[in-house]
Amino acid sequence: MDNDKLRQELFYMVKLTAKYDFTRQEVVEEILRLENERQILTSVFGKRFKARIFDIAYGQTHDDTCVICGKQALNGVICDNCMESISDSAYAKSKESPQKAVTSNTKDLKSNVWSVVSKIFVIFLSILMIIQIAFLCLWYSIPTRNPKVKAVVSQNEIASIDSKEDAYAQLELDFPESEGYTITFARTDTEYVGRFLIDVGESCDEVEADLTDEERYDYFLKEDVYVFYISYLDDISSKIGMAEINADGHIIVMGQFNDGRKTDSFYRYR
Ligand SMILES: [Zn+2]
Repeated sequence: MDNDKLRQELFYMVKLTAKYDFTRQEVVEEILRLENERQILTSVFGKRFKARIFDIAYGQTHDDTCVICGKQALNGVICDNCMESISDSAYAKSKESPQKAVTSNTKDLKSNVWSVVSKIFVIFLSILMIIQIAFLCLWYSIPTRNPKVKAVVSQNEIASIDSKEDAYAQLELDFPESEGYTITFARTDTEYVGRFLIDVGESCDEVEADLTDEERYDYFLKEDVYVFYISYLDDISSKIGMAEINADGHIIVMGQFNDGRKTDSFYRYR
């Protein structure tokens, strides 16, 4: 009998002893039936082992010595020393390794899945961050895309007026017909005195919001004004608005002549 066959046999005996309760007849019967078919336990040790487990299962008198070394065996079959040394042998380890390999393959698979999941997560977070940065850039670029421009103001001197025709002539200096403007007289009306006294380029609404009660008293007195509609038309754009001019020749305008600012508010123009 070669050594490999004997090692296999001893290992098989240790495995059976560790796993099964030999006091159960059905277990021992099944082991012996399989052994009849496969003929693994054929050495002197194997034969002793088969006789011993049969005796245990069927309550026959037997001694409690180890079937391998002959020393006292607490389990009645193989002593602890033989169990341990055969379980730790190189042969036993070579039989166990496929099992361990499977376990380690499973571990590899798990760690691969985890690494793929974490990569996807990192990519997802990166895309999210890029989108956020894009929004941030857009947010900061809005003021430069839509800048607040200074109000357009008149370049002409203030000149007092006596009539509707004088008023028209003064407005014509700022909105000449030759450049595409059309000035139309609307009516005579009254307007707040204060609106013609604020700084050129200022918004009447904004100034009025900050007035003290005392300032309001003077500001909201009224005086006579001439009211004109002004329109502008060229090939690509059109503008519309209105102008009011008082007897001193001060002018306020409202509409689309103050690019980028409120079109529903009067501005001091001249
Ligand atoms: Zn022993």
